[in-house]
Amino acid sequence: MSDKNSRFNAVLEITNATPYATSMTDPLKEIWACDVFGLQQMEESLSKSAFKAIKKTVQTGAELDSATADVVAAAMKDWAMSKGAKFFSHIFYPMTNATAEKHDGFVITNSDGNAITEFTGSLLIKGEPDGSSFPNGSLRMTNAARGYTAWDPTSPAYIMHTPNGSVLTIPSVFMSWTGEALDKKIPLLRSNAAMDAAAQKVLSLMGETEIATLNSSCGAEQEYFLIDEKFANMRPDLLLAGRTLLGAAPAKGQEFDDHYFGAIPERVQVFMQDFEDTLYRLGIPAKTHHNEVAPGQFEIAPYFEAANVAADHQQLLMTVMKSTAKKHGFCCLLHEKPFAGVNGSGKHVNWSVGNSTQGNLLDPGSTPNENLNFLLFCGAVIRGVHKFGPLLRAVIASAANDHRLGANEAPPAILSVYLGDQLERVFNDIKTGELHVPKSGGLMDLGLSQILKFERDPGDRNRTSPFAFTGNRFEFRAVGSSQSVSGPLVAMNTMLADSLEWIAGKLETAISAESDKTAAVFSVLKELMEEHGNVVFGGDGYSSEWHTMAVEERGLKNTPTTADALPALKTPEVIELFSSTGVLTPTELESRFEVYAEQYVLSIEVEAKLVVEMATTMVYPAAVNYLSSMASTGFTLEFSPASKVAENANAMMAAVEQLSTALTTEEFDSTEAHMDFLAGTVRGLMDDVRAKSDALEMLVSDDLWPLPKYREMLFIK
Ligand code: ADP
Ligand code: MG
Repeated sequence: MSDKNSRFNAVLEITNATPYATSMTDPLKEIWACDVFGLQQMEESLSKSAFKAIKKTVQTGAELDSATADVVAAAMKDWAMSKGAKFFSHIFYPMTNATAEKHDGFVITNSDGNAITEFTGSLLIKGEPDGSSFPNGSLRMTNAARGYTAWDPTSPAYIMHTPNGSVLTIPSVFMSWTGEALDKKIPLLRSNAAMDAAAQKVLSLMGETEIATLNSSCGAEQEYFLIDEKFANMRPDLLLAGRTLLGAAPAKGQEFDDHYFGAIPERVQVFMQDFEDTLYRLGIPAKTHHNEVAPGQFEIAPYFEAANVAADHQQLLMTVMKSTAKKHGFCCLLHEKPFAGVNGSGKHVNWSVGNSTQGNLLDPGSTPNENLNFLLFCGAVIRGVHKFGPLLRAVIASAANDHRLGANEAPPAILSVYLGDQLERVFNDIKTGELHVPKSGGLMDLGLSQILKFERDPGDRNRTSPFAFTGNRFEFRAVGSSQSVSGPLVAMNTMLADSLEWIAGKLETAISAESDKTAAVFSVLKELMEEHGNVVFGGDGYSSEWHTMAVEERGLKNTPTTADALPALKTPEVIELFSSTGVLTPTELESRFEVYAEQYVLSIEVEAKLVVEMATTMVYPAAVNYLSSMASTGFTLEFSPASKVAENANAMMAAVEQLSTALTTEEFDSTEAHMDFLAGTVRGLMDDVRAKSDALEMLVSDDLWPLPKYREMLFIK
């Protein structure tokens, strides 16, 4: 680099760069799902009977025979090869938040040494990666190094392109040789089946005669940061930990509220449009994009889909987002809190359940008090969140999300349910037994004749609630931006299955006792609300009054850190929930605790090591250079910050010493003790180093500072 400060070079290069641009994009009709082997492609290439069989599997989860699998495999191969694919891959979803894939060629050679291609039903159905190289918790102890991937026909295969080739990618489950789930997809499929079975019971007790398979749906809103990759490459913390571990607050952050929904910077919009075109080719319905609250922060929300497909699409979306950002010279940060002092990123998971005969069961319609199916399903959710709040908190727990939950921009670490005025009143009425006619929102009339009047929603929004009813679905708002949506979906489907089972039991008795079905439903819901109504809260979830009231008066749990939250996975209620519904065996659940605890430990240790390294090799030398440059002037400087610099540099290195010692000397009897130590001690020591480093950043000459500053990363595009 020519300039002695590579930061300044980066700024110059970014300023002078020509934005990356693709040619004008193609019409939606031409690109939509063109890289997906979906039902339409199958219908075009399969015999009528084979298509009928695979369609039934896709739509209802019915078993598929091996002859049909062979036919589908052949058609899939022909289709993929016609699009340039020479390789195929089973993509799977291990217990990290990432995906995994192993690529195999279609090619084999015959006895003449000629290349022919092969892709049989058995190759489609089953792959065999090494199970021991992925986090598997205690399942590793069962000597099961072998792992299998198996085709999930309910999530369509697709083609991933690079400029030099294409790969047929097949969504799959991943299990150990002993048949234990090593992934996030198996529990999701099982949780959906458990929810379906319990919902069928309730609906048939309610007199429904035709009941199609129920499925859960998911629409995930993804928040993220984009910063120029030149800055990211100069920061070891962003490269290895995904967040800034040091960095002083800029003079201006988000306090002007001028970024949220602001005009999207052109370079970012060019990125978004390129990214969304790729999503469309993959059949992912990108729907909404906008600026988020923090400078440099944005959001994308696809239209909702069946939960299993949405979960796969969400993982794919994160992969495509990162690679497209790179093409545009950006680094896409999915971390929950990349920058201290400005908002972090979440992933709101919108969730509902329904089927083709009864529709969306969380849609209240215009008269919720008369919609008995809705009331039962909504009541089931209330009971689930109350009974399994600690589980919901545990499935979104991570070292990264701990920085967000309970901070200003995110819901607190206390799980409560927001229903909105109208519904809250309906459920309270059920509890007290005094039913009122619910109020609708009424007409919105601004008194301006040119603005058409419209029907106001019956309830406002509550951004402070971690679990909010939003008209026809629940929105789990505490999920972190880098997390897989599968964990939350599994928890929600499973708690719903449990509650619907409970409701079915109660309802059966109540219906035989009461001649009137409405009275029977209301008596079950009254009991439910008396026991679980405490979880319903419409006020300000950020307020300190709520924190006290929730814990002291309502008996809800406040678990601010992962170290507090994860052990919920080991409680008897949660073990019983997962085994009674058949979603996870006790061993599978235990392995999840171990994997997530290990990830927590590892990520804090990586961060702590980075803090030590950056403070020692980047910040301290900058401070010393500055001191020596001042010393070399030969003048006596009246306002010299030298003593402050020296003081902070010494204090920082003392804190570094403490942090290094803490990292090497402690031994722990249990994972829980190790997590507690990291949460209670190591994080504090990291903050001590940071405080001194950030003070130095405000003292040391700008041209000697080695790390890109917040103002540069957040504001220069
Ligand atoms: P907001 O920011 O107002 O919450 P967005 O439009 O950003 O709303 O996102 C709402 C998300 O909820 C979208 O992904 C949308 O498709 C999804 N959604 C809508 N209806 C359902 C439903 N029945 N089940 C699941 N998700 C849904
Ligand atoms: Mg939302």
